[in-house]
This record gives sequence, structure tokens and C-alpha cells, in this order.
Amino acid sequence: DASAAAGAAPAVRRRLGNLGAASVLFYRDPIEMVSASGCWMTDVAGRRYLDFYNNVPSVGHSHPAVVRAVADQIARLNTNTRYVVAVVDDYLDALKARLPADLSNVVMTCSGSEANDLALRIARAVTGRQGFVVTTNAYHGNTDLVTGVSPSALKRGGLPAHVVAIAPPGAATDTEAGFLAALAAAMAELEARGFGMAAFLCDAIFSSDGIHDGPPGFLARAADLVRARGGLFIADEVQPGFGRTGAAFWGFARHGAAPDIVTMGKPMGNGFPMAAMATRPDHLAAFCADTGYFNTFGGNPVAAAAGAAVLRVIEDEGLQHNASVTGTHLLSGIRALAATRPHITAVRGAGLFIGVDIGREGAPDPGLTLRVIDAMRSRGVLIGAAGLHGATLKLRPPLCLTRDEADLFVTALDDAMGEVAQQA
Ligand code: PMP
Repeated sequence: DASAAAGAAPAVRRRLGNLGAASVLFYRDPIEMVSASGCWMTDVAGRRYLDFYNNVPSVGHSHPAVVRAVADQIARLNTNTRYVVAVVDDYLDALKARLPADLSNVVMTCSGSEANDLALRIARAVTGRQGFVVTTNAYHGNTDLVTGVSPSALKRGGLPAHVVAIAPPGAATDTEAGFLAALAAAMAELEARGFGMAAFLCDAIFSSDGIHDGPPGFLARAADLVRARGGLFIADEVQPGFGRTGAAFWGFARHGAAPDIVTMGKPMGNGFPMAAMATRPDHLAAFCADTGYFNTFGGNPVAAAAGAAVLRVIEDEGLQHNASVTGTHLLSGIRALAATRPHITAVRGAGLFIGVDIGREGAPDPGLTLRVIDAMRSRGVLIGAAGLHGATLKLRPPLCLTRDEADLFVTALDDAMGEVAQQA
């Protein structure tokens, strides 16, 4: 806002002047970045930061294989999506080899929001019902329909009547049974309100809810429950997809759940904007019979080239395995810290997606969390916050993180916790 702009650096003032109220920047004193490589970003003053926040450049910032694929393809052909181009179908074949066999139609989009918007519309077309169940602090994107299922984005007025939110497992409901009971009650509520149950939309790692790896397999039971009521299960893989959770390529697969629709985005092009929605051909046909669907840029040849390079790098460099091994190493390092740093109240996660709760006297402490984030920044490490109270550190480094970089993080966190403990 104007008061923030007044004291800000010229580059920040320019940004605020250009983007206005929609400008979202990290830190009270935002960083001007100029380049990045692997897990490291470099600012305008030449300072390097270990990037523990960014799950977009998931195979590593400016990975040479992705850069080359994009450059080669844009030099050869890029066009709207009304032509047959082999590189696009080569990519879709490779992507589908990673997906459940019944989800054999893939619609490519440019953002996760578009993919989720399409998923919700398909669920309505297939079920003939209007209602959605989501989790308490979920975020699924920025279209009108998708903002309505994103409680964390709704600043005023609460959820629309066709949406009911339930706590993620591990938060208010400690057990799988509690989660399933809440889901059943939410579906009954949608029926009572006259909307009926169209779909349960969930991020299998519950990123904005504070990262909950959940009781193993509980999502499979949740999906069964939803289908028993005639609804669809939509797995939003924008955050956990592409190997991040280590145990499986997709977040839903870690739970052995079978979705009706999968959406994906962020890490898919390692920074090249691309996203997608996969579903059964009959579901897509039911939707397209009503309105059709066309996306000018979604699935363009350059996006396909970027996506194909990302899949190859994940495979060639064993990045899903690295997420598992280095993630476990990181998790145990932070757990060891928690024993000596009382403001760390819980540590959880899967692969290289880890949540660290910050609190005092048994309560989450968002102010202290922000101080930890600032203290980490001054030690050259970038992290963010998540969760209903904004009191969970969200750790999501590129999947190429090394053991040494994980150790560097743990040392910095120990030091930062020491600094904030003195102020607390
Ligand atoms: N789903 C989830 C779980 C997300 O985290 C996000 C983005 N933060 C989206 C969907 C929306 O993706 P996009 O910003 O690409 O529209």
C-alpha cells in the first residue's frame, strides 16, 4: 500500500506502483532477485540465498536440460493449440504413463487455477450437483469458482453456501475416523442445503492447511466415502505432485487413493507456466457436451517440451528418491532440533515437503513465526509460513537438495531459533 511504498527501496516502490493492491511480495523489506541455479537464488547485491520455499523450479532453478528444451522448441515452433504437434503428444504419453490408467484424457492449461476451475465444472456436469467439500484453510486458485473453494483466499464474507470446509487430518481431527466422520457430515450438510455433493477437492499434502502427511491410506477411504455418495474425488496435485513427497510420484498415490480427476501445475514446467487436468474420457465428454473447452496457450509445444524435460530430469537424476532420502535426513535433523528448541512444537512432512510448527505456551505463535522467517532470511535461507494461524514454517526446497544443503538449513534454523528465543 501507499504507506509501505513511501519508505521502500525504489525497485519495490516501482513494483507497488505497477501492481497496486494485487502485489504480493515476501518480507517487509522485499528482495530483488536477479538469477538462480540449483537450490540457490542470487539478489541484485550478489547475495546468495538457499531457496527452501519455491516448489516451482522443482528440479532445480534454471535446470540446463529444461532451458535447452524450451529454447530449442521455441526456436523451431510455437503456436496456438489447433494443430497436431508430435512433441505435445509425446509429452502427454509420457505424463499419462505416470497417471492411473483410467484418467486417460488430459487437458493442458496455463495455471493450476484453470485446471481446478475445469475440474470443478466437470464434477458438476458429471454429477448434476453443485456442492463441494474442501479443507479449512485450503487454497486452490484464483478464478471466481475456485476462489469459492479456497477458504484461505476469502478475506470477508466466508464460504459460499455450496461449499463446506472440514479440518485436515492431524489438525482438529486427530484420527482418520474423525476426518471421515467430518467428511460424511459435510456431504450430508450439502444435501440438506439442496446443493448435493459434486466433489471433494483436496491437496493430498494439505499445504496451506499447514502440511499434514496424514494417517497412511486415509485418503483412499475418504475417496470411497465420497463416491458412495455419488460425488467425485478431485486430487489437487499442484503442491505434492511430481515426486515431491518422495514416497510416490503423486500425493494421492502415497495414500493409495484413486481420484476421479487429477489437477497439477507449479513444478510441471520447472517455471515455464503450464498446468493440466486429467480425467476419464466419459467425464470430459459429459462436460464438453454442454460447453466445449478451448485453451489458446494450454498445451503449446514449448510447454510440452518443458514438461517432457522435467519428467526426464526427475527420472535421470533420481529426484523422487532424493526427495525421500534427503527429506528423511532433513526431517530427522529438524526433529533433533525440536528437542532443544522449545518454540518448535511439532515437525511433520513427507519427502521434501515439511511443516514446522512454531508456538509458545501450547499455542501457535504467528508473530514468532514471522520473526523466525526474518531471522532465516538474514542467514541467507528463504522459507514461508502456512496453516490456519500462519504459525507453520513451510519447507519446500527444490528436489535436487543435497545432504549438505539440508544440514546447512538445520544449522541456520538452530541459530535462528536461538536468536528469536532470546527476544521472546
Ligand atoms: N492448488 C494449490 C494446492 C495451490 O497451492 C495453488 C497455487 N498456490 C493452486 C492450486 C493454483 O495454482 P496457480 O497459482 O498456478 O493458478
